[in-house]
Amino acid sequence: MDKDAKHKRAMEKQKAQVDKTIASANQERGVSVLLTGNGKGKSSSAFGMVIRALGYGQKVGVVQFIKGEQLSGEEIYLREKCPDVFLYQMATGFTWDTQDRSSDIDAAKKTWGYAKKLLTDASFDLVVLDELTYMLAYQYLDEDEVVNAIKNRPHQQSVVLTGRGGGSALREVVDTVSEVKEIKHAFRAGIQARKGVDY
Ligand code: ATP
Ligand code: MG
Repeated sequence: MDKDAKHKRAMEKQKAQVDKTIASANQERGVSVLLTGNGKGKSSSAFGMVIRALGYGQKVGVVQFIKGEQLSGEEIYLREKCPDVFLYQMATGFTWDTQDRSSDIDAAKKTWGYAKKLLTDASFDLVVLDELTYMLAYQYLDEDEVVNAIKNRPHQQSVVLTGRGGGSALREVVDTVSEVKEIKHAFRAGIQARKGVDY
């Protein structure tokens, strides 16, 4: 058989397999996605989904479990151009530097309160909980409560969680888990973090 015919046959076989998989996907509901791993690309992927959802006029909520001073392009854009997007950042009170554990926990719990609200509000199509995993790793939030909130969210709502680690309970409850693996990172070669790329 020549190369073209061989390629055609392989493609036909692949298409049949894909068609079969598509046909067997008969559930219509929101999906939960965990983006984890040590490589770059977790939060930026989550914000890629924010843009996708906004393209279809969907309602989007973003809660970021990060310190407030880290201004990012996505924050500027959402605040200036997308007033309909709900955006909350842990910001105030969060003090990695001072090691003030109890105020960290207060800030984490307050932020989780906003996340919980979104996870019970069926008007939100997409909810992003950026860097949530660290709150579980530090045991600032109760894992069972987080897992149950994700499990019991509105049927049509999708949720994206980001951050390294995440733990087995979170991995189990979500539909999709992707691990971004670091092969190399510019930072290690001494290149400064870049506006529009890194933040
Ligand atoms: P991004 O927001 O770029 O998608 P991320 O969410 O996957 O990155 P985080 O751990 O949240 O990764 O880190 C955010 C910041 O740290 C970004 O500026 C990113 O470029 C940088 N970063 C991510 N991964 C690495 C790495 N392996 N080494 C050094 N810096 C990193
Ligand atoms: Mg991130």
